[in-house]
Amino acid sequence: NTPLHELDPEVAAAVDAELHRQQSTLEMIASENFAPLAVIEAQGSVLTNKYAEGYPGRRYYGGCEHVDVTEQIAIDRVKALFGAEYANVQPHSGASANQAALFALAQPGDTILGLDLAHGGHLTHGMRLNFSGKQFTVVPYHVDTATGLVDMAEVEHLAKEHRPKVIIAGWSAYPRQLDFAEFRRIADEVGAYLWVDMAHFAGLVAAGLHPNPVEHADVVTSTTHKTLGGPRGGIILAKQAFAKKLNSSVFPGFQGGPLEHVIAAKAVSFKVAAGEEFKDRQRRTVEGARILAERLTAPDAREAGVNVLSGGTDVHLILVDLRASELDGQQAEDRLHEVGITVNRNAVPDDPRPPMVTSGLRIGTPALATRGFTAADFTEVADIIAETLKPAPDTEALKARVKALTTKHPLYPTLGT
Ligand code: PLP
Repeated sequence: NTPLHELDPEVAAAVDAELHRQQSTLEMIASENFAPLAVIEAQGSVLTNKYAEGYPGRRYYGGCEHVDVTEQIAIDRVKALFGAEYANVQPHSGASANQAALFALAQPGDTILGLDLAHGGHLTHGMRLNFSGKQFTVVPYHVDTATGLVDMAEVEHLAKEHRPKVIIAGWSAYPRQLDFAEFRRIADEVGAYLWVDMAHFAGLVAAGLHPNPVEHADVVTSTTHKTLGGPRGGIILAKQAFAKKLNSSVFPGFQGGPLEHVIAAKAVSFKVAAGEEFKDRQRRTVEGARILAERLTAPDAREAGVNVLSGGTDVHLILVDLRASELDGQQAEDRLHEVGITVNRNAVPDDPRPPMVTSGLRIGTPALATRGFTAADFTEVADIIAETLKPAPDTEALKARVKALTTKHPLYPTLGT
């Protein structure tokens, strides 16, 4: 029972350094968040020791009476949170959830319709090197490059032409809400299943700030660690009719023993997500993103030479277009990193630069909203970003402004040595 710092100082030092990095920088990667300590406590619990193949009440191992309780709580809470008939909380990650969902709805070789990766889709929606692209016939749809919005006329046209087995609605980099009712109409017209991947915006849905795809889709997948703010993991929600297929696709289809410690942590995060404080946090998240979009395109930010794709945002992120800037995506990401702001570079539709460089940035507000940032704080963050992206910024002054914000909103103050 030797503590980590004594048993393995090398690993402990890296964990401590990561804690310090999170505390002392502005985390603006749109897919990241800070899990509450209670979630981290559950995830670091003795439940990690337990084998529990199967589902609550139907396990292939003895001694599952307590993990049955935590897993059933997680299932009941997430069903209530999103109004779902069925939930599976065992997927180890978003990609695992998507793999299990896709193989429950379609056979290898079937046609699937998903948003192109280069236009904001996810790897698991049909990227060439992913299982989805290798094993299914992929027809990608796109955003209209003039408006930045998903081209629903193209979705309908491609659906009618290719008659896919599954239509995927969801994204990793898109600043607007999707029209789920329209996706449903098109899916019904061609006899396709509708699968919504709400990994990015699940927290907004839980808070009632975004349309709920569960009302429209046959199957909905999500991660639990992005806007939802829980432990790293995945979930599948669906109509009851898909329960058997989905359960057997997750286990024994793709996974063995579930991560019961993570499932307990998911349960805790679903409790948090049902509360008023969470709603307020999601409101500040969306408001923060709107402020970023406004301030980065305001007259006094003009020298930074940035545009915001689609002209704004309805969600927790913005997509910055750097094609009119002196910086490419890599240079802008590095510049922001230097002053203590973490973002990721991101391709803009029809990007003239290669994927490792890009001409855009994806900037998200969930982690800072969790940290307690208000509208005034997000205004300051936006102004720091704009100053940083202008020619010849005063890096030391900008670092000091970042430090003032991280000091104002301490993160995990009771952790660390
Ligand atoms: N689906 C979407 C829309 C995502 O953006 C992501 C992650 O970025 C995933 C699925 C995959 O989640 P994970 O990284 O947990 O496998």
